Amino acid sequence: MTFDELIAECKNCTRCKLRQNATQVVPGAGNSKAEIMFIGEAPGKQEDIQGLPFVGASGKFLNEMLASIGLNRDDVYIANVIKCRPPDNRDPEAVEIQACADWLTEQLLYINPKIVITLGRFGMARFFGDKKISQIHGKVKFENGKAYIPLYHPAVALYNGGMRTTLLHDFKVIKSVMKMFDEGKVKGSQNDPLAHIHNEEGGISGDETSANKDKIL
Ligand code: URA
Repeated sequence: MTFDELIAECKNCTRCKLRQNATQVVPGAGNSKAEIMFIGEAPGKQEDIQGLPFVGASGKFLNEMLASIGLNRDDVYIANVIKCRPPDNRDPEAVEIQACADWLTEQLLYINPKIVITLGRFGMARFFGDKKISQIHGKVKFENGKAYIPLYHPAVALYNGGMRTTLLHDFKVIKSVMKMFDEGKVKGSQNDPLAHIHNEEGGISGDETSANKDKIL
């Protein structure tokens, strides 16, 4: 199956009841060969209408944050944990998250990004268990040659100026991690079962090590 076929199949999904009230499925958008993938929560009203992720107010701020580190949406892939809008933007239920989980797994396998950035708690829960966002936002977990960075959801910045500053600051971590990959400072691969240990102990070298020590989970 090609990536386009996967997305086409996802658009026909009826694995949970959310599809009944949604205008359409919103699988994701962007560069399917991207090295950076963002994972949000679920489509909101605008996303449901347009069929694209992060096209409402949160998306506008996401674009701004991407621009702040010299990226645009064509450089990245953006998806959500949940592909259909929950009624009135309510939180997705556990059964809905479970029913949708394989789509994101497949997207991750096809895109195979080096850096996975979660936006908000549902994406974070998938990769970081029950950790607290207030404690781990902007810190990096290296695992199997990939970097995982949990960030606050951009929506929190829409009504909280302090969060806006925090998010813009945390975005700079993405830039540092991109540099580490470019300079070969992240070791380990998907075939290396000890990759996370290698990375914890020696994956970052040179000045980056001391500068970023507090940024590594
Ligand atoms: N919030 C999300 O988490 N995802 C979107 O696509 C839009 C808003």
